[in-house]
Amino acid sequence: MPIQKNAKTTAALTGKVWLVGAGPGDPDLLTLKALRCLQNADLILFDNLVSEEIRALFPNSVPAFYVGKQRSNHSIAQADLNQLLVKKARQGKNVVRIKGGDPFVFGRGGEELLTLLKAGVDAEVVPGITAASGCTTAAGIPLTHRGMSQGCTFVTAHAEKTLDLNWSALAHIDHTLVFYMGVNQAGVIQQQLLAEGMDASTPIAIIENGCRPNQRDITGTISELTQLITQQQVQSPALIVVGEVVQLAAQLNTQIRVDHLVQSCA
Ligand code: SAH
Repeated sequence: MPIQKNAKTTAALTGKVWLVGAGPGDPDLLTLKALRCLQNADLILFDNLVSEEIRALFPNSVPAFYVGKQRSNHSIAQADLNQLLVKKARQGKNVVRIKGGDPFVFGRGGEELLTLLKAGVDAEVVPGITAASGCTTAAGIPLTHRGMSQGCTFVTAHAEKTLDLNWSALAHIDHTLVFYMGVNQAGVIQQQLLAEGMDASTPIAIIENGCRPNQRDITGTISELTQLITQQQVQSPALIVVGEVVQLAAQLNTQIRVDHLVQSCA
């Protein structure tokens, strides 16, 4: 569907909100649609996972504001942000709300879209490459592989209180698991999967700053997860990948990165 500036000469001002996925960080992984949205925006609102390289593509003439949320540091409350989106669209503006990865994967895109549609505001989601896809590819890890993993489960390790997951099912599913927001919950992930019977030698990878110039890939086993995170001082954003497919990185990682690092406790 073509992206056009709204005709502001007509009687009613009709703005639109674009909930745009920025992908995991590499500007080459932006979709053409995302880029066109940015180029046609009247206002850009971006979050902390939108990389510097992608922010450099924002047109200089368009006001851009940070509305990100980090763990305990929310620049603006979600309810206030929703109201801002509604207000600006009603003023006839093309508002681009750009966020890391895909807005519909642990990105609260559904909540924002519901609010906008309920308020009668025209809105559209532009999908992006989600971290699980972009970062594993950049690390040479296929999410599925014939004879090794017939599926893949994306799990959020973020919880308001305690992490309430079906650990038994996850431990026995026998396919690739990808934990988002897992750095601070690595102890729980390791302990629960092992307690539910996952083999202690199951391979894991931690991918920090995936698809960015400073990507780090750290590999080991599930029993080494917390030790690796502490030893290597892993920082967010990072993904935890659990499953046999991690072993393929040794053959399939074709990326040449200056600071590329593959480490294990062994
Ligand atoms: N909507 C996003 C996910 C937001 S949740 C998406 O589809 O990718 C935020 C979590 O995503 C981070 O805590 C981290 O686990 C993961 N993540 C996002 N970008 C990442 C990156 N470049 N490298 C590693 N992990 C990333």
